[in-house]
Amino acid sequence: MKRALITGITGQDGSYLAELLLKMNYQVYGIVRRASTFNTDRIDHLYHDPHDPKARLFLHYGDLSDGTGLRRILERVHPHEIYNLAAQSHVKVSFEEPEYTADIVGTGTLRLLEALRDYQTAHGVQIRYYQAGSSEMFGAARPPQNEDTPFYPRSPYAVSKVAAHWYAVNYRESYGMFICNGILFNHESPRRGETFVTRKITRALGRIKVGLQDKVYLGNLDAKRDWGFAGDYVEAMWLMLQQERPDNYVIATGESHSVREFLEEAFGYAGLDWSDHVEIDSRYFRPADVDHLLGDPSKAMHGLRWKPKVTFEELVRMMVDYDLELAKQEKTLKDAGHVVALRGVAGN
Ligand code: NAP
Ligand code: GDP
Repeated sequence: MKRALITGITGQDGSYLAELLLKMNYQVYGIVRRASTFNTDRIDHLYHDPHDPKARLFLHYGDLSDGTGLRRILERVHPHEIYNLAAQSHVKVSFEEPEYTADIVGTGTLRLLEALRDYQTAHGVQIRYYQAGSSEMFGAARPPQNEDTPFYPRSPYAVSKVAAHWYAVNYRESYGMFICNGILFNHESPRRGETFVTRKITRALGRIKVGLQDKVYLGNLDAKRDWGFAGDYVEAMWLMLQQERPDNYVIATGESHSVREFLEEAFGYAGLDWSDHVEIDSRYFRPADVDHLLGDPSKAMHGLRWKPKVTFEELVRMMVDYDLELAKQEKTLKDAGHVVALRGVAGN
């Protein structure tokens, strides 16, 4: 049975990837960071008590700031594949916490690669490693962007991802390690963090529809992104590690839309006019933004035989349907006298 180790398993992508690998009969080991509240909501449906013979998902406490802990986990798990998805992944937050972002996203990747290099030498094995790169690395580079487009990062997050990307390339070239860089364009789902713009919009829309709130406050509506479905994108991660040779791949839909178009599609689907409910608040603008990301996924389409299955319209509707249901549940709770937090209003 193959064993995969996933950092960032509690995140959006980690949860879809864990589902995919469990379906393919892997044993999945996840690194979870300690928090004072539970942070495993996205993977709770996959978890069995480790005493249960059915259990194939196992969790270890760890953090990308703690290299010793990472080394210990490698020695316990003996993975065949590693997916490094852990990150402080929010661009706006990276302007507020640049040093922390660099430490986890950039240096954290280096810590894991160092641990892996030593593990491989000690055990005489080769492990396949996936590095979660981002279209934010292209930043201000002219669209469409592909594997040959020079990086032009526009935030501490993006600069840190560029560092992680080049650490990964350097370890592949220096030590012959099997390391793939996925350069993934924005991908969303009903599990997307609630402070990313798509989910912030659909979460607010659900609440507006059931009367729990009236407005949502946003920043730059002109930014364009190439938005795909996270469930499709984790398949590409796995495919990269099944190839004969390690390489870098852009994963995208090849279609971009503005934040305004996302609003039109989402509110239109729910039978509402977005301009009645959206206010612009300067706090959501970034010191430097990325205007237009549009990926060219030709290499992945030919080399990995990967293509996205969910269209933009289907993605928006999937998220709206989910968040409308969630808002109805919140409404029921509120009507029964419970406190319902309006986090979407304050989010980044
Ligand atoms: P996400 O939902 O924000 O998940 C990030 C994961 O990293 C969470 O499990 C989080 O744990 C964990 N994490 C954060 N800080 C950590 C630390 N110090 N040590 C260990 N784990 C830590 O992100 P995602 O959307 O799934 O994205 C997965 C990866 O792909 C990230 O590296 C992201 O930067 C990159 N990426 C994402 C996109 C996208 O559109 N989604 C596009 C390109 C690249 P908690 O649950 O405890 O917070
Ligand atoms: P990013 O591409 O990783 O930064 O993903 P986000 O979903 O956080 O942001 C996508 C785009 O939406 C960026 O250009 C943001 O400036 C823009 N945007 C506009 N209003 C908001 C907002 O209220 N929150 C967030 N997160 N982004 C916003």
